[in-house]
Amino acid sequence: MLRCDIISIFPDFFREAFDYGIIRRARAAGLVETVAHDLRKWTSDKHHIVDDRPFGGGEGMILKAEPIFAAVGDLTGCISREEYSPQTRVVLLSPQGRVFTQEVAVDLSQASQIVFICGRYEGVDERVGEALATDEISIGDYVLSGGEPAATVMIDAIVRLVPGALGNQNSTINESFSEDLLDHPQYTRPTEISGLRVPDVLLTGNHGEIARWRREAALKKTQRNRPDLLK
Ligand code: SAH
Repeated sequence: MLRCDIISIFPDFFREAFDYGIIRRARAAGLVETVAHDLRKWTSDKHHIVDDRPFGGGEGMILKAEPIFAAVGDLTGCISREEYSPQTRVVLLSPQGRVFTQEVAVDLSQASQIVFICGRYEGVDERVGEALATDEISIGDYVLSGGEPAATVMIDAIVRLVPGALGNQNSTINESFSEDLLDHPQYTRPTEISGLRVPDVLLTGNHGEIARWRREAALKKTQRNRPDLLK
């Protein structure tokens, strides 16, 4: 069982995010639980303030460390990173993190609890990354306005790797990135549309030939779209 706790100032963002397809089924089967928490719950002042101005000056606001420290403490039951169980991961979403890949998803799918910390504004007080997070992760080289879409992307990729989440476990073995190769092209009926025919080999029923064609087609597509994977 994997429990995903999300800390956010916009917990309603996730209201329906995990209510579709594989993720919905994995939740219904009790393989995963996803809970979005309002960071303001962990403020102690009357106005529930979660942000403040940056020391040293500059644009915008920064998410304060204290409410996040309190939230992670409550959700993990630990007051410092050294106390986390090895099955607990605390992920800070940040464009400054290491880049999320299928390999990182596989690693995280083995945890029993993942706490996601979603930043907003100009980011999060650096001490959260230094002292609380086990992982600082970016979903790609671009800047989002908040960590919420990034947490959604990560949870989607991670949950489908939890054993039992996919009907057919083989589908995670053959798909894109499982061996530095993209998936092969797929076709379904009709056999012809706008003069474009499905490759004949796929209609032969010859499994050996089909497997060979798929491998070559996957290689060609990887060469064309993602030569960096083949280095
Ligand atoms: N000033 C920061 C950007 C802050 S963006 C900088 O230039 O590095 C606000 C929040 O959005 C971040 O705290 C982070 O939680 C989230 N975010 C933005 N881009 C992201 C990305 N590529 N991956 C993961 N989270 C991201």
